[in-house]
Amino acid sequence: MSTCPLPENHRDLFHPANLDGYVETMHRGVAQLGATMAGLTGPSTGTSPEHAAKLVTDVDLDRPLGDAGAALGEMSRLWLEDTVWFHDPGYAAHLNCPVVIPALLAEVFVSGVNASLDTFDQSVGATFMERHLVDWTAGRIGFGETADGIFTSGGTQSNLQGLLLARDRALAGRARGELARLRVVASTDGHFSVQKAARLLGLGDEAVITVPVDERHRMDVPTLARALAGCAARGEVAMAVVATAGTTDFGAIDPLPAVAELCHLHDTWLHVDAAYGGGLLASTRRRHLLTGIERADSVTVDFHKTWFQPVSSSALIVREAHHLGHVTWHADYLNPEDPDGTGHPNQVDKSLQTTRRFDALKLWMTLRVMGPDRIGDYVDTVCDLAQEVHARLAHRDDIEVAAPPGLSTIVFRYRPAGLEEDRADELVPRIRQELYDSGRAMVAATKVDGRCWLKLTLLNPMTTCEDVLAIIDRVATAGRELGVGAGAVA
Ligand SMILES: *Cc1c(COP(=O)(O)O)cnc(C)c1O
Repeated sequence: MSTCPLPENHRDLFHPANLDGYVETMHRGVAQLGATMAGLTGPSTGTSPEHAAKLVTDVDLDRPLGDAGAALGEMSRLWLEDTVWFHDPGYAAHLNCPVVIPALLAEVFVSGVNASLDTFDQSVGATFMERHLVDWTAGRIGFGETADGIFTSGGTQSNLQGLLLARDRALAGRARGELARLRVVASTDGHFSVQKAARLLGLGDEAVITVPVDERHRMDVPTLARALAGCAARGEVAMAVVATAGTTDFGAIDPLPAVAELCHLHDTWLHVDAAYGGGLLASTRRRHLLTGIERADSVTVDFHKTWFQPVSSSALIVREAHHLGHVTWHADYLNPEDPDGTGHPNQVDKSLQTTRRFDALKLWMTLRVMGPDRIGDYVDTVCDLAQEVHARLAHRDDIEVAAPPGLSTIVFRYRPAGLEEDRADELVPRIRQELYDSGRAMVAATKVDGRCWLKLTLLNPMTTCEDVLAIIDRVATAGRELGVGAGAVA
């Protein structure tokens, strides 16, 4: 390789004069990542927060190491060696997915070129690639020609924007003071970002009305009907119903056609939070579970969950493009008003963000290399896996399961015959910690009706039923040992 012609102080810039250095540094990084992955023995090392914090806070950020190799070594010690690996079959905690290689290839370009999707003059073709993906996703949802949408940083932002559009539609033609009368209805199992959004939108915590769920953890429709009628009777305005297509704990899909019908009757905006269940849009065997989603006004899809994309990648898709106008603002220096529509297409007109990553390229490369059917197969595979594990757990008398899996999660706990429920509750966080400490398996925890449960979230299409049963065995072993220690189980 040629020697770097640039002076020392320019050699870290991504620049044609530094291509040798760029390629060499990138290779080094990829090699280090690969070598680390090749040597893994579990999803994490079980490091403690105290230990992790100490390593990091000892670093003097005013004294650079001056060399990528040294910085990579330090970064490894501080983080990479102890990080959590979502591709490991022992990882079954949160909604994190293993990622696909075409998306990682795209990342090189997303950050190297560093296009910003706010205006056409900062992104050129990228604007149209994002729009094409939005239209494609809208088509999968079943929306028509009038649909539109925007990529966002995640489901939280997508939900916020969906509810913002609903709020501004509800407020149109009303006095600002009517904000206090607006209500959002969601199920008790809806995502907490709904409450956060209500707060950010100035609605207040009491504006969110929660409707109970049935035994499969789906929104109870008769109660929703009463809630909407109650709002009307009290002179409140139900500005939106949030139906969840894939709840975070149970993967439950609210009864979308019935919810859509009620929204239609009450002239209420229907937002479908498909952050988790959105991957079903690519499924060839389970797409029918989303029937009714085409009647939504807005839909959240998280590509960084069930589309196997790296964080961040999400979208908000709306049935009627004009609603996105509620977030449009014109600035002379960026996206001046364009009454004739002859100027540049600017995605910033539809987004809560200004500078915005070209995350869409990751999905683009994924679809162009792999195609949607393979993504859909992955989704079906992890849902099949959850069914299979659930069936196998029916034969065990030491494991209790809270409900059959809706998508790819299993809420369960260690509870052999004779173990009181209070004791089972107490064991949940201790078993979870025991697994984390071991570095061999990771599960999540949640509460159902005030009781403690463990949760498996299965998003790895390469994980087998035996892998998952091995995690369950670790849970049972930990439960027995911790239980005996506390004198609870014979
Ligand atoms: C994960 C999730 C969200 C939030 O999405 P982020 O991408 O984490 O911001 C919203 N709703 C549901 C149902 C989710 O599972």
